[in-house]
Amino acid sequence: MRVMAQIAMVMNLDKCIGCHTCSVTCKQLWTSRPGVEYVWFNNVETRPGQGYPRRYEDQERWRGGWKLTRRGRLVPKAGGRARRLASIFANPLLPNIRDYYEPWTYDYESVAQAPPGDDFPVAPPRSLISGERMDNITWSGNWDDNLGGMPQHESDDPILARIQEKIRLEFEQAFMFYLPRICEHCLNPSCVASCPSGALYKRVEDGIVLVDQDRCRGWRMCVTGCPYKKVYFNHRTGKAEKCTFCFPRIEIGLPTVCSETCVGRLRNIGVLLYDADRVPKAAATPREQDLYPAQLGVFLDPHDPRVAAEAERAGIPHDWLIAARRSPVYDLIVTYGVALPLHPEFRTLPMVWYVPPLSPVVEAITASGHDGEDHDNLFAAIDVLRIPVSYLAELFTAGDEEPVRRSLRRLAAMRTHRRRLNLGDPVDPSIAESVGFTVD
Ligand code: SF4
Ligand code: SF4
Repeated sequence: MRVMAQIAMVMNLDKCIGCHTCSVTCKQLWTSRPGVEYVWFNNVETRPGQGYPRRYEDQERWRGGWKLTRRGRLVPKAGGRARRLASIFANPLLPNIRDYYEPWTYDYESVAQAPPGDDFPVAPPRSLISGERMDNITWSGNWDDNLGGMPQHESDDPILARIQEKIRLEFEQAFMFYLPRICEHCLNPSCVASCPSGALYKRVEDGIVLVDQDRCRGWRMCVTGCPYKKVYFNHRTGKAEKCTFCFPRIEIGLPTVCSETCVGRLRNIGVLLYDADRVPKAAATPREQDLYPAQLGVFLDPHDPRVAAEAERAGIPHDWLIAARRSPVYDLIVTYGVALPLHPEFRTLPMVWYVPPLSPVVEAITASGHDGEDHDNLFAAIDVLRIPVSYLAELFTAGDEEPVRRSLRRLAAMRTHRRRLNLGDPVDPSIAESVGFTVD
């Protein structure tokens, strides 16, 4: 057993209200500088939606433009010297500024100087990069929020009214939720593996993945190599930048700024202990669906005295062992199995985990006249969720629906249990038993 420590985050998606406070405070702290105007180390995506940068999950789009030569150099796969040079300077596998979005501010000057008129003047958007007016903004993160639309009043026109009814029925089937994202600080970070300059590294003491700015030569292979597209290029400094898990704050015992300012209080930070000898190698895993359980098998119970002894031998500070025991992340991920990783099939072993959203189940049940807080009703409804289990499984378990169902059932049971406590009802052991736990 080779015990190592990894900092991790678990986010409860039921609690995210999409307020973007986390993104804004992160931006204030880390990326409010020239060259990284378009960069959001923390972004909150609309789901379903294209994400940020758009279509980042479409791995076919970014795949395989480079190969390793016998001398260990990464070169573009096809083409002569001219193509090779062109690829280096305009790598088609990199997201371009339109995939992220061209950041803008508003031209408030024009409002101040507008002559009196019948209409209230508005500030037109202006590019933060070129300074020019942007009259035709076609994309930005969370654009998907605005793709919906619902007629507010019923039309008098019978044809229009019929169309409205059709839209209304379709919208009743619609669902959405928010997915906050930071760098995953992966156990197998492909950004580190793809950097030809050795500028990206994973800290031994806590697993935080960082870019050494002095060593970075601006190759941007890390941008291509990260399946979550969470490394960004600073076009002023010519260097790569990424989420640092707020390491200067972590080192003095403070949480990341996104966690501290999260309005929904949904981000749990903690320390996971894992056996480095058991970390599955990306190529050694035969089936994508096997990755999720294989990932779980890596973590060690911090309460196990043998693990504690090994951790001490490995030089893990006592404080970190205490942190591993006190934080809820191990229990949420391993003991209760309610937190799931984002796209485990990307094979980098991501260390940001998500408790899938349950709320719309309640809505679906209460609409049918049942008690939405009762776990029996919730269990029965899990297959007719407003958010399809298959969609959640696509995001969190490489399509395997069973872990998602298990997580949702346990969340439903916990909700019923808490409500009983709040109402002063006695603890009902059958609730825990129904989801595979026993009550002492
Ligand atoms: Fe590297 Fe991307 Fe993983 Fe972050 S999410 S550690 S940038 S591979
Ligand atoms: Fe969601 Fe919290 Fe971010 Fe608000 S601050 S968008 S609740 S993660």
